Amino acid sequence: MQTELTVAQAERLIRETVPTWPAETVALDAAAGRVLRQNVLAERDLPPYDRATMDGIAMRWRAWSAGQREFPLEGMQSAGQAPGALSNAGAAWRIATGAPLPRGADTVVPVERLSETNGGVRVDDDYRPKRGQFIHTQGSDRRAGALLLKEGQRIGGVEMALLSANGVARPRVAPDPRIALVSTGDELVGLDSRPESWQVRSSNGPAMSALLARRGFGRVTAAHAPDEPEALAERIRTALSGSDALILSGGVSKGAKDYVPGVLTELGARPLLHRIRQRPGFPLWFGMHGEKPVFGLPGNPVSSLVCLRRYVIPALEKAQGAPSPAPEHATLTKDATFKPSLTWFLPVRLATDSDGRLLAHPRPTNTSGDFASLARTDGFAQLPAHRSRFPSGRPVRIFRWNG
Ligand code: AMP
Ligand code: MG
Repeated sequence: MQTELTVAQAERLIRETVPTWPAETVALDAAAGRVLRQNVLAERDLPPYDRATMDGIAMRWRAWSAGQREFPLEGMQSAGQAPGALSNAGAAWRIATGAPLPRGADTVVPVERLSETNGGVRVDDDYRPKRGQFIHTQGSDRRAGALLLKEGQRIGGVEMALLSANGVARPRVAPDPRIALVSTGDELVGLDSRPESWQVRSSNGPAMSALLARRGFGRVTAAHAPDEPEALAERIRTALSGSDALILSGGVSKGAKDYVPGVLTELGARPLLHRIRQRPGFPLWFGMHGEKPVFGLPGNPVSSLVCLRRYVIPALEKAQGAPSPAPEHATLTKDATFKPSLTWFLPVRLATDSDGRLLAHPRPTNTSGDFASLARTDGFAQLPAHRSRFPSGRPVRIFRWNG
């Protein structure tokens, strides 16, 4: 087992250990929010036929360039109708936006440039149509077989448009993992009882569920375990049996009642990492139980949220087959000082200046227990261990709670 790794070492160890979950196929209407695990190719040319982009008439440009201004109308071409055909070079069809171009036509003149005549239309004398205008030609966006979506993308509105437009009725996607949360601590009480003066209400379970839900992980169950090895083992066993990943909070420090690492090991989990050179979140524990990742997060509310965002969510996304997101940076707006040679996760509020630069306003907490100070923060900056002064104006790496 590794201990007291740097943030970068810990991140790498976790990333390299967590397996990629096998893909599954689901009905398209159940695929929103999932990570796509297949490439999507264009089923047909895009657009699939020459389509008008204006309401007007479809005609042959040569007729106009030869001097013809009045066009007899042979029909109305609507969207959803098979294309008609010009019966002679001097004829025209009315056409609606989105309708396929009648065969023989090559140009659309918009209705604003036409006047009605007896049995036809007249193109305004001062109007000069360009050959091929107002036609979105077949295949001009993408050819059939072109790569439209790469695997690893999370399916939102844009991806859904491309999947449905290309007939992918059952896409291959990452599973929506079942995640078990276990909050440990004898001092914790739930919403259903009034805390005594020496107790605290349990907030880590709901906080972690919400952060997970915002990242697309909705199948979360939460349980509480006391600081007692047998009951803790029983809760962990139950949580493991019904989940793909287990996250615990509390009980991973050096206190006499911090039983989580010992109990996990007794239950057959393979310990891989304990303690990272960071604040908050120093005591973090990570291991594998069979193929299931297990994270023991420190119980202090700031620590558990920071560790969830910094390590657990990226690990779950990796397991879903999503690529690592590009690092994001923002400019500190105030000097910050941190003496210990640990990486410092400093909560920040984000804003942009008038040049569009992303700014990070420091919002330090009193301790890793001070979650009141997290209100109105957007995430945290990661300030490297080898420095102690972080001057205002300096770009720093940031992590958004919900980004
Ligand atoms: P621990 O990591 O178990 O030593 O917990 C550290 C501190 O975090 C405890 O003293 C509690 O005040 C707080 N804490 C632990 N678990 C929770 C929780 N689920 N909700 C809110 N606070 C917690
Ligand atoms: Mg505890």
